[in-house]
Amino acid sequence: VGLSVATELKAQLSGADVTIIAENFYENTTSYGSGGFWEPYQVGNTAPELIKLWGEFSYNHFLALHSSPSAAQAGVQVVPAFFLAEQHELPIEEPCWKDIVCNFKDLTSADLRKLSLPENFVGGYSFLTVAAEQKYYLNWLTRELEKKGVIFETAKVSSLIKLANSCDYDIIVNCTGLGAADLLLAETDVYPVRGQVLRVKAPWIKAFWQFGSSYMIPNVDSVVVGGTAQVGDYNTEISDVDTKAILDGACSVFPALREAVIEKVWVGLRPCRKSGIRLECELIENTASGALSDYVSSDVETRDLVPRRVIMAHCYGHGGCGVTLGPGCAHDLVKSHITPLLSRLKAIEI
Ligand SMILES: Cc1cc2nc3c(=O)[nH]c(=O)nc-3n(C[C@H](O)[C@H](O)[C@H](O)COP(=O)(O)OP(=O)(O)OC[C@H]3O[C@@H](n4cnc5c(N)ncnc54)[C@H](O)[C@@H]3O)c2cc1C
Repeated sequence: VGLSVATELKAQLSGADVTIIAENFYENTTSYGSGGFWEPYQVGNTAPELIKLWGEFSYNHFLALHSSPSAAQAGVQVVPAFFLAEQHELPIEEPCWKDIVCNFKDLTSADLRKLSLPENFVGGYSFLTVAAEQKYYLNWLTRELEKKGVIFETAKVSSLIKLANSCDYDIIVNCTGLGAADLLLAETDVYPVRGQVLRVKAPWIKAFWQFGSSYMIPNVDSVVVGGTAQVGDYNTEISDVDTKAILDGACSVFPALREAVIEKVWVGLRPCRKSGIRLECELIENTASGALSDYVSSDVETRDLVPRRVIMAHCYGHGGCGVTLGPGCAHDLVKSHITPLLSRLKAIEI
């Protein structure tokens, strides 16, 4: 998400110098292991109109990338998606985002028989979507940002207020995912939803399939087979029990997967937030005012703070949707939150 925000800061604030500070980059992030698939999932209480706003921007962003000269480098594919339901799962609530994707269609029993799927599936829906393999996409995005002069710094931030105090940034954007729970004293809403997935060699699978807790996402070099969604579980160790359950689930519909080579088993923690994605911006003043109570932890003495105004923006809590909503959130954060606040500040200074 942070890379998307940096992209938007460069695009919308002309002449801005941008530095990305992170404890971990690329393969050591949650984003790297994700399936890179577009479909809103595990997004807390984020309002449907925001899911649509941010989702549509991201969907269009990936489609445009797919038909651009950068498609191969960014690892973006257009993918047909099938969600299959059994009788006890009916009726299916229509997803709020159905009008923003191409070819959304309800599936009937007749459609499913035509697709030669097991008879326990009697309904569902299909649509056309995108998958951006993160190994490629994050690498491409990083190279693009480097070309634009964005600086990358590896460091753990222990306090946002210390960061604001120790350098001359005008804007700090907090895109720390699950890390937000440690950084912000008042943040008690963030929790992990553990996801274990397998990456298998199954080049015949070119569509996304989802049924029960099983799903398959075709990426460029492998197919992601999932998965688990264990709420509140911080365990990042691979579980053999989960691996077996994931394979058994997938093979119940696509038995050829039993012979597929498993290239990798991975566990990631979806950074969920009960009240939904936090996308907002506040003006903080580095003085001993009450406004700082969210930020000043016991290791920061307020008498040490230099009076300074900084825009503190937040963009975290994307749950299972960092790829699906991330580009749209980044665009909206800069356009609708940071830019208006910057204009108000400039007006005050004049
Ligand atoms: C199994 C699985 C499959 C998934 N599949 C999909 C999918 O197909 N589609 C989809 O849309 N989403 C998917 N997701 C969800 C997606 O991965 C997340 O929503 C996304 O990674 C969140 O991005 P983020 O940038 O907020 O977090 P991260 O990728 O975790 O990045 C957070 C960054 O903040 C840094 N950071 C944190 N705290 C600090 C600190 N104190 N100081 C310095 N740096 C800090 C970290 O080092 C890291 O660089 C999946 C997740 C899992 C677990």
